[in-house]
Amino acid sequence: MSPPLSMFAQSVGGSTIVGMRRLADALEAEGRTIIDFGIGEPDFEAPPPVRDAAIKAIRDGRGNYIDPRGLIELRESIAAFEADRHGLDVSPDQIVVTPGSYGGLSLITRALLDPDDEVLVIEPGWGPYKAMVMLTGAKVVGVPMGTTQGRFVIDGERLERAVTTKTKAIVVNTPWNPTGRVLLRDELAAVSGVAERHDLWIIADEVYSELVYTNSAHVSMASLDDDVAARTVIATSLSKSFAMTGWRLGYCIAPNELAALLARINQYTSRCATSIVQYAALAAFQESTDYVAAMHEEYAQRRDAIASGLNKIAGVECPLPEGTFYAFPQISEDWGDSKEIAGRLLQEAGVLLTPGSSYGPASRHHLRLSFATSLSKIEEGIVRMQKALPFANE
Ligand code: PLP
Repeated sequence: MSPPLSMFAQSVGGSTIVGMRRLADALEAEGRTIIDFGIGEPDFEAPPPVRDAAIKAIRDGRGNYIDPRGLIELRESIAAFEADRHGLDVSPDQIVVTPGSYGGLSLITRALLDPDDEVLVIEPGWGPYKAMVMLTGAKVVGVPMGTTQGRFVIDGERLERAVTTKTKAIVVNTPWNPTGRVLLRDELAAVSGVAERHDLWIIADEVYSELVYTNSAHVSMASLDDDVAARTVIATSLSKSFAMTGWRLGYCIAPNELAALLARINQYTSRCATSIVQYAALAAFQESTDYVAAMHEEYAQRRDAIASGLNKIAGVECPLPEGTFYAFPQISEDWGDSKEIAGRLLQEAGVLLTPGSSYGPASRHHLRLSFATSLSKIEEGIVRMQKALPFANE
């Protein structure tokens, strides 16, 4: 028998999305065609200048370790991009380049949390936040959002009530996976108000910042004011904005002392984000604007198509997504838990999507559909769902 494993590590479960994808693989192996609304990943390639820059970096022999904070030219480009796009006034010293925002969030949780600390995780929310908190031995306190006109909205009073003497941080995600919401300034202020009253950190995941379709642009938490910025750490990446998921490049923006600590932990984790990719990322910020605008245009058409198709299905109500590439319709409560509905849609209609219940109990009657897939697949998937739903209650 082997010796015991870490208790914190074992407290973390597997991912619903990965589990469902494996089921879909098995069905595909039997010859079924599956329409995949599950995956949270752009179906575009990285911009051509980024791919060219990566090849050049390899040819130029750039495959060495670099400073754990990240390449200085890249951090300067990031600072300029954040100033231009989100009104942030940050120095390169406040930026730490990481392997994706997964990498950043994992540094952040380890930098901020000790065992038994509590972290408020707003639900419905992206599952890995909970896992990352639990890996540090800290506790997750799920706080459900409220709802207004079928949309999930931040409820400051619920957050306030969830705070205890052990609370250390609040996790906030805008634009929001899975709800497709872009948080309004007032909602961000409700979060920062709680954080200020109880001296908490705000962990702001802004990975979908460039995928906003409404008139109200993405507001970065750190842009609210200097006091909020002093207790906010942002995790973000190039994965969604520049279609670079597998390249694994992200960054954190933090007050100076925390940024230095994040860099120190990075050094003992991955040492540095891949050097070749850091050189390539320079081309993302400096030469890819047109390509990103074209992707955005395509996503906007898809979100209209998916929301209008879903709204034609009796028992399904889908608010128009404001940002991200997720539609998050509510389904009739009579149909039972979304996990069963998602399972049946996969088996009976060959449509892969994610049950709302995997983002917390507040969304057990929702489904998440990624529209990072072609318009023709969206149309085919909607037809399949229209034929299959409603399921008879058994
Ligand atoms: N945050 C959110 C809300 C996400 O949906 C994802 C990926 O799906 C990530 C972070 C992690 O992305 P990456 O590590 O590729 O930046």
